[in-house]
Amino acid sequence: MKRIYLDYNSTTPLTANARERLVSTLESFGNPSSVHAEGRVAKAIIQKARREIAALVVADPANIVFTSGATEAIMTLLTPHYFIGRSPLFMSHLYFSATEHPCVTSRGRFPVQMSTVVPVDRNGVVQPDCLREILRKHDRSKGLPLVAIQYANHETGIIQPITALSKIVKEAAGLFIVDVVQAVAREKLDMTKKCGDFFLLSAHKIGGPKGIGAFIATGETIRPEPLLTGGGQEKGLRAGTEAVSLIASFGAAAASCVIQCLHEGERLVNLQKKLEEGLKEILPSILIYGSGTMRLPNTTFFSAPGIKAESMQIAFDLAGIAVSAGAACSSGKIDSSPVLQAMGIANSNGAIRVSTGQNTRLSDIKQFLKVFETIIARTKQSHLKYS
Ligand code: PLP
Repeated sequence: MKRIYLDYNSTTPLTANARERLVSTLESFGNPSSVHAEGRVAKAIIQKARREIAALVVADPANIVFTSGATEAIMTLLTPHYFIGRSPLFMSHLYFSATEHPCVTSRGRFPVQMSTVVPVDRNGVVQPDCLREILRKHDRSKGLPLVAIQYANHETGIIQPITALSKIVKEAAGLFIVDVVQAVAREKLDMTKKCGDFFLLSAHKIGGPKGIGAFIATGETIRPEPLLTGGGQEKGLRAGTEAVSLIASFGAAAASCVIQCLHEGERLVNLQKKLEEGLKEILPSILIYGSGTMRLPNTTFFSAPGIKAESMQIAFDLAGIAVSAGAACSSGKIDSSPVLQAMGIANSNGAIRVSTGQNTRLSDIKQFLKVFETIIARTKQSHLKYS
């Protein structure tokens, strides 16, 4: 049976380009810090990837810092200790939205008492006035505010008003970190326009390999105190010999996305429309979260009243379809969604996330709906039997 993969927000299959680059660069074994020819070859491979990634998000290649993933990138950035040039810059308090990924809600190197959760409304959106009011109370005599808000949510796909929020952070003289992990390749991004100070990326969400990611600064002067110190790689911001092949493959995946972004948006929107119309037709009482809000075109997060998401996920899996019930990183331990809780939605049965991508076809959505219809019919029948 051909499997249907509808869990792209969890991770994506390696693209052909990324696989080819991953394998071919394994032969270039030089250390990128070495000045001899072998070292220079490895360094050139990394620089090429830097340019490819920068082109995808419209950023300066020189401001990309490679890490082992977005989690390490945010761990580096969530520190009270920054530098502006050579002078220390103290970030006295961390503010993050209630629906951030766990790598942000775990607060990095900030103690709990130095952090505040910024609430979202019932639509999962951070209201600019709410952020303004919270930052108005920030005591600047102790240091500056550090604010982390994601561009798009990993469970619901809900998009935050980043440009408006960034203006508020700037008014409060804060630094703004934007997690664009789920948005890259699904939205056309231009970091020069999004007005953040730092952006997070993860290769495995865009068709690249696992174990590699980056943060990108929009300027050169402000730098976090590094998390890993040692050999001075990545301009001293992330020590350790670079993972040349993983970086190269990340670059190749980004290059494919540049082309893909031109065509994919509309295609994914159409698939989302077909999927959500189909779900409503089969079960009119279905709850699709964030459906009235700006959302990623590839994500649909829903609950079917009276049916446990966990049971649905198993039924889909047995029918050959991979979907997620709950957050990607906590799959395997299915909990009620912290994102829905933050939105004030009580839901003890959990929710199913369908996230599409490059290989998803209309036939996959049709097959998904067919299986969903069977699950609903079976549930109705068993309710009749026991009522
Ligand atoms: N941020 C978001 C929004 C994510 O969805 C994820 C992974 O699921 C991460 C950060 C962490 O990325 P990584 O797996 O590269 O550490």
